[in-house]
Amino acid sequence: MLYPQQMYVLKRIILFLRRLIYLARSHPIESAFVVSVIIAALLPLRQPSIKGYPYLHLTEIKDDLQMCLVTRRPPDFKLCPLVARELSTFKHANININDSLLQEMPVKFKIQSGGRWFPKNCSSWQRVAVIVPYRNRENQLKVFLQHMHPFLQAQRLDYGIFVIEQSEKHSFNRGKLFNIGYLEASKEPDFCCFIFHDVDLLPESPQHIYGCSEEPRHMCSALDSFRYVLPYPELFGGVVAFTKEQFSNVNGFSNMYFGWGGEDDDLYERLCSKQIRVRRWAPEISRYTMLYHAKEIPNPTRHMLLRTSVQRLEVDGLSTLEYKILKTELKPLYTHILVDVKPR
Ligand code: UDP
Ligand code: MN
Repeated sequence: MLYPQQMYVLKRIILFLRRLIYLARSHPIESAFVVSVIIAALLPLRQPSIKGYPYLHLTEIKDDLQMCLVTRRPPDFKLCPLVARELSTFKHANININDSLLQEMPVKFKIQSGGRWFPKNCSSWQRVAVIVPYRNRENQLKVFLQHMHPFLQAQRLDYGIFVIEQSEKHSFNRGKLFNIGYLEASKEPDFCCFIFHDVDLLPESPQHIYGCSEEPRHMCSALDSFRYVLPYPELFGGVVAFTKEQFSNVNGFSNMYFGWGGEDDDLYERLCSKQIRVRRWAPEISRYTMLYHAKEIPNPTRHMLLRTSVQRLEVDGLSTLEYKILKTELKPLYTHILVDVKPR
């Protein structure tokens, strides 16, 4: 029930809106112009600095990065500099496929089969496994590989790229593919940092060191398709970095999300339940280009699964992972693992 004064205000508002609609109908071009000016004036308010999300700045990165011993190197071998000289000359993301470059890359960049590389004259801070879930995105994979090898080498990283392809059976399960990639890469010694990476995202800033932080890091927090603004602080998709301890602490991703969406929110819930805060680096460092693709069909059961995410933590994840490897191949630019995510 409204008081007479409130009724009066409501009537005035309705009258004002009616006049606006009338004005917009009679002067459509002018109205469109005014609306555009208002939107342009409001958009800068979405800047992350104004929203006040906590970020680590360039000067704080060195303290944030974790060091782990690479046993293949003598313990007194000198550490690589964190920001290599080549970084300053690195170019922005190129989204065009260059087939001849892809052919030349293994020799030109001295990449070992399986997509491995490490610097010869210094010891990297971490050995990093980049895990990519994959199915039927051939062109995006080409652009990704052509971008990532020079990018990671400029940072003097000891790294390997693992592409985990799901067989045609069943709908796509991004979380499970990440879990499989983690377990398979862990069979090799020394991988201590795992970067779970969509194939369609390309880091733009050479200063964005692909190593693990004190806390799990959301790496692609400034996406070009979101105008480089983090839409909401709970977003934890795209590219994330976990040390072995951080990932096993939350039992990895859930294995239960088939189809698009939910698995990244589920992982965020897992972190929250353990009072782990997500780390992010400043937006100017965390900039990514996203390659275009049509939107996948969302999984209608994702909201229901999310409600029980925390209860399932111990019984749904790395500890209960079942899969069947159909093929493992050391390709010139990556390790290819084809899997069936439901073995039975
Ligand atoms: N993906 C894939 N094939 C598919 C669906 C997904 O390779 O059919 C992988 C790919 O690495 C992709 C990631 O899963 O970048 C996330 O899927 P998508 O890009 O559709 O998610 P969105 O960008 O809409 O969040
Ligand atoms: Mn995508």
